[in-house]
Amino acid sequence: MEVYAEVDDIRRVRWAEPLASWGLVPTMGYLHGGHISLVERAIAENDYVGVSIFVNPTQFDNESDLEKYPTKIEDDLAMLRAAGVDLVWTPTPQIMYPPHFQTTVDVTALTQTLEGAARDGHFRGVATVVTKLLNTFQPRRAYFGQKDAQQVAVLKRMVVDLNINTEIVPCETLREPDGLAMSSRNARLDPAARAQASCLYRSLLAVKGSIDGGETDLAVLRAMVEETIGAEPLAGLEYVSFSDANTLLDLDKLSFPLLVSMAATVGGIRLIDNFLFE
Ligand code: AMP
Repeated sequence: MEVYAEVDDIRRVRWAEPLASWGLVPTMGYLHGGHISLVERAIAENDYVGVSIFVNPTQFDNESDLEKYPTKIEDDLAMLRAAGVDLVWTPTPQIMYPPHFQTTVDVTALTQTLEGAARDGHFRGVATVVTKLLNTFQPRRAYFGQKDAQQVAVLKRMVVDLNINTEIVPCETLREPDGLAMSSRNARLDPAARAQASCLYRSLLAVKGSIDGGETDLAVLRAMVEETIGAEPLAGLEYVSFSDANTLLDLDKLSFPLLVSMAATVGGIRLIDNFLFE
């Protein structure tokens, strides 16, 4: 496994065999089973696999969230080596955003709702850094978790709009045994908060059970989420949305494909989760 920080080194390895197909897994590090499941899929579907590890400052709307973002680069590299990754890009912020940097990518409508409404500038940061990653690796496929459902929708739109020759491949959310979606942020949950953090998943399961049972009233479904999250003393619901999975606009009556997505803080740590109903 080769590990480089500089753009030219990534390009040199990438183009050593021009006809090979590359899969790319962009990450912010502090790797867990969810990341590795993306890596494994990329390995199965491509000749070579690259992973980027970069805590992208421009996608954080909150300075202290960026400062507290956990890192463990040596462990991350050991996990990627064991998984069989070929190339890892670990750029510094100075390499990614050198002096005079001034170009950004805005996906307009899809970023107005949900996480885009809650986190000012987040998706501009994501779209810009992913464009840089895709331009550097020029992968055939890039793998993203469905846990960040809006990110998948935004990036799928972006590669079509900008004629980027990479397929965005959504991958299912990996969960802990109690249903909590794996996330680097989970490391920041204290034991009491960790014990309550599966409430996001449990509320989604309750919604799924009701929809499967024939419930169509969105107010009833919304109340189920509010009650499940509200029952945990350390949890606070920021939003729950029932949206059209294509446009990400709020629905006023139940229709499919439906994205049920939410953000909640548990013990002060902000968590997100969603279910997609095709
Ligand atoms: P991050 O390092 O949090 O930016 O995540 C890097 C990639 O891994 C993103 O495409 C995430 O959607 C994906 N990812 C994060 N958590 C999970 C999970 N629990 N299951 C599957 N993919 C995930």
